[in-house]
Amino acid sequence: MSDPAPTPPPAARDKLLFTPGPLTTSAGVKQAMLRDAGSWDVEFHEVVRGVRRSLLAVAGLSPDDGYDAIPMQGSGTFGVESAIGSAVPRGGKLLVLANGAYGERILRIAECMDLDRRVLRSDETAPPDAGAVDAALREDPAITHVALVHCETTTGILNPIAPVAGAVRRHGRSLILDAMSSFGAIPIDLKAEGIDYLVSSANKCIEGVPGFSFILARRAALEATGTRPRSHSLDLLGQLRALESTGQFRFTPPTHAILAFARALAELEAEGGPAGRGRRYLANHRALASGMGRLGFVPLLDPALQGPIITAFHHPADPAFRFADFYKGLSARGMIIYPGKLTKVDTFRIGNIGRLFEADMVQLVHAVEDTLRELGCGLPLAPP
Ligand SMILES: *Cc1c(COP(=O)(O)O)cnc(C)c1O
Repeated sequence: MSDPAPTPPPAARDKLLFTPGPLTTSAGVKQAMLRDAGSWDVEFHEVVRGVRRSLLAVAGLSPDDGYDAIPMQGSGTFGVESAIGSAVPRGGKLLVLANGAYGERILRIAECMDLDRRVLRSDETAPPDAGAVDAALREDPAITHVALVHCETTTGILNPIAPVAGAVRRHGRSLILDAMSSFGAIPIDLKAEGIDYLVSSANKCIEGVPGFSFILARRAALEATGTRPRSHSLDLLGQLRALESTGQFRFTPPTHAILAFARALAELEAEGGPAGRGRRYLANHRALASGMGRLGFVPLLDPALQGPIITAFHHPADPAFRFADFYKGLSARGMIIYPGKLTKVDTFRIGNIGRLFEADMVQLVHAVEDTLRELGCGLPLAPP
């Protein structure tokens, strides 16, 4: 049999992804995938073991701290679903803190599972009210677990962990943190905050490729959940037991994504870990915010609440501005941005994460200016 036609070479340069995942990855991360690893092979098991160890190190945890890093197939949402479904026991009750689409998604997961639940909503441009969490936990002893989103990627707001975690600890409940878009760039002290479960994924701040999520779980909490999982494929304790007894995922692992991730973790370490990476993202955010500000764009959030991960801007009032055309103009210039996801106001979002540097943000601002001129917008823009 003759070989089919060879794969054409990739475009000289892919478009830059100013989105919160999938994101622009390094050449090294892409190259790490040019292999076929067998899931039964001890060499691959070694890679998985190394990845799990490195994830604890990224969290500043040592193997004696009582936490395990457990990879789970699927995108980030699968990891959240795995953590919620595995952590909250039958008869337990989940309090969800929601100030954006990802908090609402956790609530939806709880609904689908028929979990006893309650939601505390706050405005999309304000952090959760820790006093209200304290009151809810005091008056409702049935609540066993609290779910908080760290960086709410809907707006880019950074929800402070400490006030909520303090209330959860005082009342002796368990905290589940969706740190999907912050872990790896913003240091989080799981032990000090008393976080029992932290969920993140391969293609956010660690800059791997999509294909799996991972959960950092406090072993004693996870083991206490027993062996009656709500889901077979997303059973977190089952996955941990398999990884420990056989070195393997229970079902087909995303081998290429794991190889890429091992490389991404090495690049994170070389950049100075979460502190170093966080500095680059903050520099990206600042270059973006000042450039967009010069053009007359108004950010959605109060700077005190704004995190370095993703920045949301109001649509300008200029009638010549139409988001679909703006998006197309930027895409034609090799840059992909992200639409808004808010319920009340029109926004669009620009991600600062992935293999992007200050120079890329400056280049993006130039492309934004060109595109606005092409659309016929007056510059600087009139306020929204
Ligand atoms: C990206 C993200 C998720 C997961 O989204 P997937 O599309 O399933 O990867 C969950 N929570 C937050 C805060 C996120 O940013």
